[in-house]
Amino acid sequence: METIEQNNITLDSVEMDVCLQTSVLRLDKIHSQVSGNKWFKLKYHLDAALKAGKNTIITYGGAYSNHIIATAVACKMFGFKSIGIIRGERPKQISHTLQDALNYGMELHFISRTDYRNKIVPEGLNTDHAFIVNEGGCGELGAMGFKDIEMDTSQFDFTICSVGTGTMMAGLINAGFKNLIGISVMKNNFELNEIVAKLTHQQLKEINILHNFHHGGYAKYTPELIDFMNDFYNKTKIPTDFVYSGKTVFAAHQLMQQKYFPEGSKVLIIHCGGLQGNLSLPNGTLIF
Ligand SMILES: *Cc1c(COP(=O)(O)O)cnc(C)c1O
Repeated sequence: METIEQNNITLDSVEMDVCLQTSVLRLDKIHSQVSGNKWFKLKYHLDAALKAGKNTIITYGGAYSNHIIATAVACKMFGFKSIGIIRGERPKQISHTLQDALNYGMELHFISRTDYRNKIVPEGLNTDHAFIVNEGGCGELGAMGFKDIEMDTSQFDFTICSVGTGTMMAGLINAGFKNLIGISVMKNNFELNEIVAKLTHQQLKEINILHNFHHGGYAKYTPELIDFMNDFYNKTKIPTDFVYSGKTVFAAHQLMQQKYFPEGSKVLIIHCGGLQGNLSLPNGTLIF
C-alpha cells in the first residue's frame, strides 16, 4: 500500500533543561488531519482490509475523536468507503470533527452510550464488505505501524510519549525506542500497564507509565496546563493539544525539574498530533 510521506517529519531541538538534550519528534507534521499517531496505527489496518478484499472501513469514536477524522481522511485517500459509529445521540449541532469527517465522505451512525460500550454494529448496516477497526486503532495491527518510523532510535536515552489506549507506546517499544515513559492522559486507568506489557511481550514491571499527569481526566484540563502550553509555544513555536501532547510535554518538563533523568541524558518527546482537538476549547484559550 502507498503511504503518507514522512518527508514533513522533523526532529526539533528544544531547550527545556540545561543539563539535558531534549528533542521533539514532530509526528504531528506528517499530515494536517491524519497526524502521526493515527496514521501509523491505521496503516496496517488498511493493509489488512485490502488483503481481505474489503472496500469499507467501520470504526468507532467520540464526537471529537482524532481517530474518526484520521480514518475518514485516510479512507478517502486510499479509496475505502468509511463508516463511523459515534458514541451518544446525534446532537442538534455536530462537532467540527464530525463535520470534517462527513466532508470527507464518512457515513456517521450515532448509537447510545450503552450500545457503544458493547461496540454494537447498528442494525441494517451491511457489513459484508467491511473491515472493522477498533476504537482508536488500538491493538496489535495498530502497534505494528510504529516500526515504520524512519529514524535512528539509538541516539536517545529516554523516550516520552502519551498513552491513550497504549498502542503507540507498545509500538514504539517494539520499534526499538529506548526507556519508554508513557504519560497516561486518563485518570486511574491502571490496566494500561497490562495492555502494553501484553502487546510488547514484556514483564509488567518493565512497563513505565506515569498516572499522575491527567489534569483531571481524559479531555479535562487545568489552567496550569493551558498556561504551560501557551508558554511552550512562545518559547519553541511548537503547538500542542490539550488532550495528549500538551499533557506529555508538561510531564516531561516536570520530570526534568525533579531531576528524574541523569545529567547529560538525551530525551526524546514524541509529539504525534491531535491538534484538531483544540478546536473544542473556548475561543482565545490558546494563543496559537
Ligand atoms: C490517539 C492519540 C494518542 C493515544 O495513542 P494510543 O496509541 O491510543 O495510546 C496520543 N496522541 C495523540 C495525538 C492521539 O491522537
